[in-house]
Amino acid sequence: MEHNTLVNKFDYLIIGGGLAGFLFAHQLQKNNKSFLIFDPIKIHTSSKVAAGMFNPISGKRMTINWKINELLAELKNTFAEIESLLKIKLLRFEPTHQAFGNNKEANDFWSRMENSAFKEFIHETETCEPYLIAPNGCFEVNQSGWVETRNYIDAYGQYLMGKNLLRKEELNYTDLVQTEKGWQYNNNIFEKVVCCEGYQALKNPYFSWLPFKLSKGQILLIHCPDLNTEKIVKKGVYLVHQGNHYYKVGATYEWDDLDEISNEKGKQFLLEKLKNMLTIPFEVVDQYAGIRPTTRDRRAILGAHPQLKNLYVFNGLGTKGVLQAPYLAKHLFEHIEKGNALEDEVDILRFPLFYSNSQR
Ligand SMILES: Cc1cc2nc3c(=O)[nH]c(=O)nc-3n(C[C@H](O)[C@H](O)[C@H](O)COP(=O)(O)OP(=O)(O)OC[C@H]3O[C@@H](n4cnc5c(N)ncnc54)[C@H](O)[C@@H]3O)c2cc1C
Repeated sequence: MEHNTLVNKFDYLIIGGGLAGFLFAHQLQKNNKSFLIFDPIKIHTSSKVAAGMFNPISGKRMTINWKINELLAELKNTFAEIESLLKIKLLRFEPTHQAFGNNKEANDFWSRMENSAFKEFIHETETCEPYLIAPNGCFEVNQSGWVETRNYIDAYGQYLMGKNLLRKEELNYTDLVQTEKGWQYNNNIFEKVVCCEGYQALKNPYFSWLPFKLSKGQILLIHCPDLNTEKIVKKGVYLVHQGNHYYKVGATYEWDDLDEISNEKGKQFLLEKLKNMLTIPFEVVDQYAGIRPTTRDRRAILGAHPQLKNLYVFNGLGTKGVLQAPYLAKHLFEHIEKGNALEDEVDILRFPLFYSNSQR
């Protein structure tokens, strides 16, 4: 950062301190770029309430994730660096033990085992965990696990605050102006701006035209004294271990009613699924809600604003923020700083019509 009497100069302004903003900041730190992040630090954001899971196989049709090997490699690499910086454990690799919902699901799954790429991530198991209702059998996915996202966001936020790199405030877009010297916000000048506001990109006048299709998610925290597994357990809903017999149970996918407030309907939905899953008693301890920044084509959105110079977006992480964000943060950084092309699947340029329509 450069000082003179009137302004502080930085290489980057990051708007939003969730997984996207913080993992991009990590790239900046590694590459000795100066930056400031703005975030109001709310108690519940998507990144904080998330179960934090990653899984190489996803969706009802159980497909292997896009670029899975690259994504997993960058997830490991990035969180090893962050854990060593913050001196806390955040990344956990545990298998996902999954029960089939019905016979058709089981048959479809076993026929997919002929595909060797798919098989690589599967552990065939004859026995299901004893507390699971699983008349159609089970299987396990390897190379899955979770990141303790709330601990990560809280600890990295504290670390950045300690270095005076995080401002606890919501950025007001009307005060952000492009000048000859760069983007100015109050008495700070930034060469580049990266917008990482999650679903609140809808309030960003530069990127609200992007085709988001937001989804609210609700999640329960349960206490289950007879359950003592560190595996992720799945049947309709998932259980992610939080220590001391506490588990996160999620999640709902709601496309209307997009507020961040948990409700009875969400709770009942999850409880119904749990009753079809577990044979042992549990108690609901808490409930949270968040809004996932999902997009129409279910892909992330990265890249430069179609017209304004030095203005970028990193958003659309959807249901897979944990798996994708470390790789995509590096991908965006290398695009901006080294001119590397963005992958077509995540490039903002795939939406020219949405932008031109928004300008009419
Ligand atoms: C219930 C639930 C469960 C989930 N489970 C998983 C899971 O298991 N695995 C997984 O990979 N993903 C999961 N997700 C999705 C995951 O949470 C998201 O993909 C990811 O957290 C999105 O990160 P983000 O940084 O884009 O957005 P956010 O986490 O929403 O962060 C955006 C930040 O920007 C800030 N902001 C917004 N506007 C401004 C402004 N004007 N000025 C300053 N700051 C601003 C916000 O306060 C916020 O802190 C889940 C989501 C939910 C809701």
